[in-house]
Amino acid sequence: MSNNETIPSDSSASLPAIEVRGLHKSFGSLSVLRDISLSVREGEVVSVIGPSGSGKSTLARCICRLEKINAGEIYLYGKRTDGSSHSNRDIARLVGMIFQQFNLFPHLSVLDNLTLSPIRILGLSREEASENAMALLKRVGLEEKRNSRPSELSGGQCQRVAIARALAMNPKIMLFDEPTSALDPELVGEVLDVIAGLVDSGMTMMIITHEMMFAKEVSDRVLFMAEGNIVEQGHPKKIFSCPELPRTQLFLQRML
Ligand code: ADP
Ligand code: MG
Repeated sequence: MSNNETIPSDSSASLPAIEVRGLHKSFGSLSVLRDISLSVREGEVVSVIGPSGSGKSTLARCICRLEKINAGEIYLYGKRTDGSSHSNRDIARLVGMIFQQFNLFPHLSVLDNLTLSPIRILGLSREEASENAMALLKRVGLEEKRNSRPSELSGGQCQRVAIARALAMNPKIMLFDEPTSALDPELVGEVLDVIAGLVDSGMTMMIITHEMMFAKEVSDRVLFMAEGNIVEQGHPKKIFSCPELPRTQLFLQRML
């Protein structure tokens, strides 16, 4: 299947939020991403599924410039990120990334976790940053935890704080890398609810996940990766109900 089969013809009307062309990434002699091309429209929710080791995390890390790439081009809203036209600061403003391990600052309160970057990077006053942070904590249902340390929170609460912290930078794109994989099963739902709320708000998102039901429900498009390639993609109904490739079928049989 061609990579752009499901991209509507009106996508040229506005620049894609994310565009990746011919991306190659190796670690030493290990080729991890082999000629990846993809495009995500503003407001689109794209889920990325695939077996462990297929390169999903590396793809997300390349998009937000946490990894240097070997070949290809990555554009965010038409600006090339793999060259020098975007500074790391620009990337931090455009893309919020959420990891499996929440990566909160352990020595800071929840509120300070949310205000640190807006004050340091966006130049907000402490009052402004705190006001925004409290609104975001309300949005993820954790206002009352503002003075807690991450160690005093459950995994689900930590991940909701991490999402609020990313949103505090007012990003245009959110990348999620298995946001619920480190959580006890009973805590998965509260995090997925927060992500579903973001979907409803129209946020542009790429979600790497093993939560197949969730991906089916919220995605506009699903990409299936295997061995460093996007081997199949399409509407979630199609991918989950009648995948074309045996490779995809086998993966889904194991997951569903
Ligand atoms: P996924 O997220 O789909 O499980 P990853 O992108 O994490 O896959 O990894 C893809 C491959 O790249 C794996 O073989 C992994 O071991 C390797 N890899 C990932 N990061 C590094 C790294 N920093 N150094 C060396 N190899 C890496
Ligand atoms: Mg991964």
